[in-house]
Amino acid sequence: MARRRQIYEGKAKILYEGPEPGTLIQYFKDDATAFNAQKKGTINGKGVLNNRISEHVFTMLDHIGVPTHFIRRLNMREQLIRQVEIVPIEVVVRNVAAGSLSKRLGIEEGVKLPRTIIEYYYKDDALGDPMVTDEHIACFGWASQEEMHDIADLAIRVNDFLSGMFAAIGIRLVDFKLEFGRVWDNDFGRIILADEISPDGCRLWDMATNEKLDKDRFRRDLGGEVEAYQEVARRLGLLPEGGDTAVLDLEEHRKSRGK
Ligand code: C5P
Repeated sequence: MARRRQIYEGKAKILYEGPEPGTLIQYFKDDATAFNAQKKGTINGKGVLNNRISEHVFTMLDHIGVPTHFIRRLNMREQLIRQVEIVPIEVVVRNVAAGSLSKRLGIEEGVKLPRTIIEYYYKDDALGDPMVTDEHIACFGWASQEEMHDIADLAIRVNDFLSGMFAAIGIRLVDFKLEFGRVWDNDFGRIILADEISPDGCRLWDMATNEKLDKDRFRRDLGGEVEAYQEVARRLGLLPEGGDTAVLDLEEHRKSRGK
């Protein structure tokens, strides 16, 4: 395959130049990090599963009119996306207390929140992604008031839709992280959903057993990461029922056989 220009390498994904101007290729790695990359590891097959799960979620969101960067999946680990100017804010939506919210405020994990909370974190690894408010975002010009209005509005729509989608397959959407980007039509900037939606950036609990089906299995050394991600994909109807799911990634499979 011809070498492509790498635009950016993140913790779990690589962005390459796309085939046409205004497009990029998003490659999903198996690398996993937690606690601002203080903990590192590999989850074999994670990239393949996240590529497929994120494709499904973004396609569904497109069906309900949420604008996203997703164009189409290209292969097991890559998808074609629109190039955006990333808004440097991580948007976290919470329905149930867990993770940093429980730790910071002393609220037991699993307590249903009386209303959905949206939090913002400034994307800066060196600072450890500090939590910020609308005031900081406006003050430092990271996004306009109008853009923040659109972002909050989209985050709530995504939450309502995904909560229902996961509830239908026996999964509670506890919380999740979104990222947004700007696209320009002439001089008019528009906010669209970017990045990915997968068990890497969501807390997904089995409704019957409260079993964790997300990256907390890695963060908390629970084991069974790939099985959990596979279970999410299976319930979403993305894996053949009862089929052989061991060989998910032909490229990796060939490499492992030395071909
Ligand atoms: O750690 P915390 O409780 O703040 O995480 C809230 C949600 O945001 C979790 O679903 C987590 O997976 C996601 N998150 C993320 N990337 C980060 C921080 C949080 O995907 N850098």
